[in-house]
Amino acid sequence: MGSPIKENGLNAKKKYILALDQGTTSSRAILFDTLGNMVRSAQKEFKQIYPRSGWVEHDPEEILSSQLEVMKTVSSGCENEIISVGIANQRESVVVWDKTSGKSIYNAIVWQCRRTADECKRLADEGYEDLIYERTGLTLDAYFSATKLGWILENVSGAKERAKNGELLFGTVDSFLIWHLTGGRVHATDYTNAARTMLFNIHTLDWDEDLVKIFDVPKSMLPRVQPSASDFGTVCAGMPCAGIEISAAAGDQQAALAGHKCFEKGSVKNTYGTGCFLLMNTGSEPVVSKRGLITTLAASGADRPDYVLEGSVFAAGAVVQWLRDEMGIISSSAESETVAKSVNDSGGVYIVPAFTGLGAPYWDASARGTVTGLSRGVTRAHFVRAALESIAYRVFDVVHAMERDLGEKVKRISADGGAAKNNFLMSFQADILSREIIRPAFTEATALGVMYLCALSRGLCDMKTLASAPAECEIFRPHMTSEKRDALLEGWKAAVMRARMK
Ligand code: ADP
Repeated sequence: MGSPIKENGLNAKKKYILALDQGTTSSRAILFDTLGNMVRSAQKEFKQIYPRSGWVEHDPEEILSSQLEVMKTVSSGCENEIISVGIANQRESVVVWDKTSGKSIYNAIVWQCRRTADECKRLADEGYEDLIYERTGLTLDAYFSATKLGWILENVSGAKERAKNGELLFGTVDSFLIWHLTGGRVHATDYTNAARTMLFNIHTLDWDEDLVKIFDVPKSMLPRVQPSASDFGTVCAGMPCAGIEISAAAGDQQAALAGHKCFEKGSVKNTYGTGCFLLMNTGSEPVVSKRGLITTLAASGADRPDYVLEGSVFAAGAVVQWLRDEMGIISSSAESETVAKSVNDSGGVYIVPAFTGLGAPYWDASARGTVTGLSRGVTRAHFVRAALESIAYRVFDVVHAMERDLGEKVKRISADGGAAKNNFLMSFQADILSREIIRPAFTEATALGVMYLCALSRGLCDMKTLASAPAECEIFRPHMTSEKRDALLEGWKAAVMRARMK
C-alpha cells in the first residue's frame, strides 16, 4: 500500500517544512507538518528607514538577522525533522552586496521607494515604454527593481567600477537570503522574482540582453534564474537549519497565489490588505493587457511557469483605517462590519477612495478621494457602508479589466488579508461581481504557498493532487438581482467620473 494522500493533497509523513516569509515590515518563519498544518510560527519586525520624503529603505543586515532569528526560534529542537526550507519575500526590493564579504554596499531600496520616478520619466520620454512592456510585461515605473539598482550603481562611490570588475552581486531579497544561507555558494533567484526586476524577459525566460544594456547592468551581477519549486542549495554549517535543502523561493504575492491553489487558468486570488493585490493565473500564454495590468509569472516547479495578470488597488483596507484614525467614526476596523450591516444600503452615498490617485484600470494620478450622493438623511452607518462598498467596487474594476483582457470570465476568486475578515465586505463583493468568493479557513496563504512549493519540489505531492484536494473554506454566494447590481454599478461609474474631474 502506498502512503496515504491526505485531505490537502500532501503525502503524509512525519516531517516538517519551514516557510520563511520575508515581508515589508517583518520577517516570519512558519513551521508546517507535511499535512499542511501550521505547527509553530515566529515573527520579528525590523526598522523602516525613510531618508527623505518618498524614499524607503531597509537595512539588509537587519533583514538577514531578523530572518535567521525567527528561523532559529521555530526550528529549535526539531531541525532533524525538517525536510525543506522555502522562501517567500517582499518583491522588487533591491540589494547589492560584496561578493567576498557578503556585506551590502547600500541599504535595500524598497519597492515602495519613489526615488527613481524622474529616471523612469526620462526613460519614457526616450521612448522605452513599449519595449519594456513587450519584454517584461511591466509598466515603466519606479516600483520595479531596475532603476533602483541603477541608482545604487550611480550613487554609491565606486560601485559602478566594482560591479564592472565582477566584485558585486545584485539580488532581490530572496537571492540575498539564499546567498547567505548557503554560505555564498548559491547566487540564484526564481522566475517570479526575476520577472519583477524589469531586466528579465518573460517570454524567453532569461535576462534580456537589450534591457541589461539600457540599464547598464554588468551581467556578472545577476543571479541564475530557476523554477520557484526547485533546489536552491543547502543551508551551510553555522546557520539555523544547517544541512537542509532550500527547496523553493517565490515573490510573496505569487506564493499566495499558490497557497490559494490558483493553478488553473482564470483563477484569481485577492489579498485585501492596506491595498489589494489581485493575481490571476492565465495559463501557458501571456495575456497582453489593454488596461494597464501587469503581465508576470506564476510560481511552480515547471521549466515554463504559467503567466499571471496582476492588478492592484492602492487604497482598500486603508479606507477603513481612514474611518478609524482620521475620521474617528469607528473605533476598530472590525466595527465597520456591524455598523455597515445596521442599514440596508448606503443611502445613495458613494466614496471613491482615490487618496493617491486611481490605479488600474484608470491610471489617473490626479484623481482624488470623492464622496457623492450626500443627502440630509445620510447617517454614519451609510457612510461606513459606502466605505466598505468602495473596496468591492474597486476590486470589481480590476476583475472586470482582467476578464476583458483574458476574453473569458474568471473561474474562481479566493480572498485573504486583514479586510477579508469582514463578512459584509465578502458578501457585497460576491453580489457586485455576481460571483462566489472563497475565503479559506487558513489565512496564511503566502506561507502555505511556500509549503506547497517545497512539497512539489521534493516530490511529496504533484500539482494535480494538490489542486484538486479540498481545503476548508467559507463560500460567499451572490444574492443580488442583476437590476440592482447594474443600478449600483451605474452609480459607481458616475462617482468615479466625478473623482476624475479636474
Ligand atoms: P497589510 O499586510 O497591508 O498591513 P493586513 O492584511 O494586515 O494588511 O490588513 C490590514 C488592513 O485590513 C487594514 O487596513 C485594516 O483596516 C483592514 N481590516 C482589518 N480587519 C478588518 C475588518 N474586520 N473589516 C474591514 N477591514 C479590516
